[in-house]
Amino acid sequence: MEYLAIARKWRPQEFGDLVGQAHVVQTLKNAIRLGRVSHAYLFCGARGVGKTSVARIFAKSLRCTQPIDGVACHKCTECIAIAESRSVDVVEIDGASNNGVEAVRSLRENVAYGAATGAYKIYIIDEVHMLSLSAFNALLKTLEEPPPYVVFIFATTEVQKIPQTILSRCQRFEFRRLTQGQIVERLNQVLTAEQITLSEEGVRLLASHADGSLRDGLSLLDQVLSYFGPSGNRTFDEAAVVEALGVHGTAEIRGFLSDVLGKNIPGLLTRIETAYVSGMDLKNFAEHCLEDLRLLYLVVLARDARSGLSSESLDISPQHLIDLQKIAEHTELVAIERMAQILSKTIDQLGWCAQPRFALEMAAVRMTKLDRLEEMESFEALPTAAASAGPAAGQPTAAPAPIVRHSQPPQNFRPAPTPAPTGAQRPTGPPNFSESREVQGDPRDPRNEMRSASADPQTAWKGFVETVIKKRPLLGALLYHANFEITTEGNARTITLAFPAGSFYERQASEGKNRKEIEDNLKTFFGPSTHFILNNEPLRARPSLEAARMEEEKKLRDEALSHPSVLKTKEIFQAEVIEVNLENRDG
Ligand SMILES: [Zn+2]
Repeated sequence: MEYLAIARKWRPQEFGDLVGQAHVVQTLKNAIRLGRVSHAYLFCGARGVGKTSVARIFAKSLRCTQPIDGVACHKCTECIAIAESRSVDVVEIDGASNNGVEAVRSLRENVAYGAATGAYKIYIIDEVHMLSLSAFNALLKTLEEPPPYVVFIFATTEVQKIPQTILSRCQRFEFRRLTQGQIVERLNQVLTAEQITLSEEGVRLLASHADGSLRDGLSLLDQVLSYFGPSGNRTFDEAAVVEALGVHGTAEIRGFLSDVLGKNIPGLLTRIETAYVSGMDLKNFAEHCLEDLRLLYLVVLARDARSGLSSESLDISPQHLIDLQKIAEHTELVAIERMAQILSKTIDQLGWCAQPRFALEMAAVRMTKLDRLEEMESFEALPTAAASAGPAAGQPTAAPAPIVRHSQPPQNFRPAPTPAPTGAQRPTGPPNFSESREVQGDPRDPRNEMRSASADPQTAWKGFVETVIKKRPLLGALLYHANFEITTEGNARTITLAFPAGSFYERQASEGKNRKEIEDNLKTFFGPSTHFILNNEPLRARPSLEAARMEEEKKLRDEALSHPSVLKTKEIFQAEVIEVNLENRDG
């Protein structure tokens, strides 16, 4: 027996077989029933959504000798001839290969003769946008004065390429892209009829790669069957689809996203490696990741708005929704937006760049460093902001821009979880590195005093530097590098700051204006009776916040580098770790 591809075998033969184009079917059926058949129809829409199938079924209905309520009987000789592409009165032309003026001229000669039998002669021109301009002009002459028995059905995926003069003479129908749910439903019907078992995840995976086209979905199913052989097993799961089509499974996409959100760089690099080695299309992989990011965005949006969300409304399986909700648990909209920006930019590159794998790796790593990028961006904006705050603003002109260049952004400088001083409604985020006129948290607020008095020296100092950074980033950066000592005797507090002797920081801090400003800030924060000493002997003081950060970073780096997954990655890539991302280490 001749093997007939499933896509061909299951091509819709009657209006009832069509999936998702009810609006078109309804109008065409009515046109036949009411005898209001137009001379030219234009079917627009993506490939594989049923345009030529509808054209053939419509042709059958027009020419059927025993129609039932305006619909073809599928039994008469005319219906069978059309189904087998044998009818001389239904002419199918491929616009892509017959696009010249000669083809249209011979068509016009042909049109002049009426139908051999029956009332209508039907011309179906597929990919009509491929016709040349002169061919369109020749066609237009026929469309202007069509013989009464002729019906043209044009199909196109690119309606914008068709001249307005042609468009205005056609009745136009927009064919809809099919939803994943519609494709899944139809695939399941076919699978049942063909006595093939395919797991739900497998069917979903086929549908997700069909890209809204039922024909593509059926062709992919054919491909799976061919891969395993016609006489082989007829029971498949998602893994079989992955193997046969050389595509990525849903687990890879979701794993990729949770690794991005979990900032698991070794995991991400391993995933990209696996995808690359197994020959997957990285662009396609990235596109599916972006699609899942979109879904994740909607899930987070619904969560934040406390509104329900069904898997049907997202056109995904219930399990997919559960997975997304799990991934979404600790995710914010803004993070997804930024990840999507990075990913879509990368998808553009993946089509043409010489090293697609490297491009995707960089994008993946960038996506894990969103918090840091934000800090770096605001940090880079600092010199401009400082420059605009001239002497007129009452800031000391000596505020040394070079400090910015020399100091690192205080990466782990997160505000202590103490309540925000006065602006309690203000969210406590990372320090904002823009020069602000606004005093955030009035230092004279007695609650500040209470906090600084009760807190241990380290926390109190951190709180102080944080307050200064908000008002005066440059001065704050200087204090961030200061070793410090806080001693209390009764009500009097002595604060000693120390920088390495002869260092840049020491010179800056001992400059009159800066020194005065440090003292003023200390007094407003710790109380008027605070005594300030600037020392150049750092040994007896506590290490600076910068030194503490570096120490902690070193410890975490050592821990991270000895982690088995990192060692494994180093081994796989034969690479050295050049940077350890310390973001989000509490999480
Ligand atoms: Zn018939």
